[in-house]
Amino acid sequence: MNNPLDNAIKQLSEAADELGVKPSLLAKLKKPDKVLQKNIKIRLDNGKEKFFEAYRVQHNNWRGPYKGGIRFHQAADINEVKALALWMAIKTAVVNIPTGGGKGGVKVNPKKLSPSELERLSRAWVRAMYKNIGPKVDVPAPDVYTTPQIMAWMNDEYIKLTGEKNLGTFTGKPIKQGGSKGRDVATAQGGFYILQDIVKKYKFNKPKIVIQGFGNAGGAMAYLCYRAGYKVIAVSDSSGGVYNVRGLNIPKLAEYKNINKTVVGFKGTTKISNKDILELKTDILVPAALDNQIIKSNANKIKAKIIIELANGPTVSSADEILFKNNILVVPDVLANAGGVMVSYFEMLQNTKNKYWTRAEVLKKLKEKILKE
Ligand code: NAD
Repeated sequence: MNNPLDNAIKQLSEAADELGVKPSLLAKLKKPDKVLQKNIKIRLDNGKEKFFEAYRVQHNNWRGPYKGGIRFHQAADINEVKALALWMAIKTAVVNIPTGGGKGGVKVNPKKLSPSELERLSRAWVRAMYKNIGPKVDVPAPDVYTTPQIMAWMNDEYIKLTGEKNLGTFTGKPIKQGGSKGRDVATAQGGFYILQDIVKKYKFNKPKIVIQGFGNAGGAMAYLCYRAGYKVIAVSDSSGGVYNVRGLNIPKLAEYKNINKTVVGFKGTTKISNKDILELKTDILVPAALDNQIIKSNANKIKAKIIIELANGPTVSSADEILFKNNILVVPDVLANAGGVMVSYFEMLQNTKNKYWTRAEVLKKLKEKILKE
């Protein structure tokens, strides 16, 4: 298993080398400003108490408040959160928004918690971290297995603790609680604008697309590709994937997942593992689940011509070298999935001015900015 932090630092060092960044500056950029690691306790529905490891890493704020999501996942750990925080600092600079980089998490399998336990866990995370966050200090957002509802609970807890009726401490909130229109699809939409550009340049006709992950990022990407007439031939979630070379009906598949909680078993498809899905013959591969998926041992087996990294850190550095040799174009996560943080920043602006944009306005600004950067 590759350590995502080693991978992030290797990528940073290689980029710094290429750009001639001073060693003293590189040394600073490798280290987070602050690491918060706490044990948080909640009461379970059965009356027992349980502890969870909770994290917030503030990597760098030279360009503005720390900014980055909170992940609820059983495999979350401090090295992963540090890597994700570093990538956020690079990403916000790449797309030129005035925020820095941070990331948070809890080591938990949220599928094993009831909605009320999940609410208590979200509020407990804020009680542990609230002195270190705020609209001008550090602004968290959703990530893997965290939702607008979780952001609403967190924001409410923050307001209760501080008395500050400011909506701008969390982004990715529900629209009624100060969220931005378009934030729900922003990550996928940003990646899709880039994908459309590539499809045009490479003159693909009805390109074949494979997507690993069918959540906020991957699910919305699948829908956008389907709507554009591209052929989405395989998608997956944590239980595995489904494949049909003739293409999947994505709206029907989304309905099926809603009911069955997985894509596996969808009519007219063959089951495929999360490992094998990456190696399918396709034009475009979109990793949209977790980090560490394309590694040295499978990089040579990737048959896609283009990879759009919607997930953070899906390709390790040693695999990148192989993909480059094999002439596979990789659109890196720090650009491909930056639509999420861009619209989060738009949400901060709208909260500050208490003036809200239409969905069309948000998506127009997103398109202009992501294609320009
Ligand atoms: P999500 O919780 O909405 O969905 C995660 C998806 O990954 C689900 O379909 C889940 O079933 C699947 N999954 C979980 N474990 C898996 C495994 N072992 N193998 C394959 N699939 C697995 O999360 P999301 O917001 O869509 O995030 C997905 C990726 O996109 C993450 O890397 C995240 O950091 C990145 N990202 C998300 C945003 C955002 O705004 N949500 C922004 C930038 C980057």
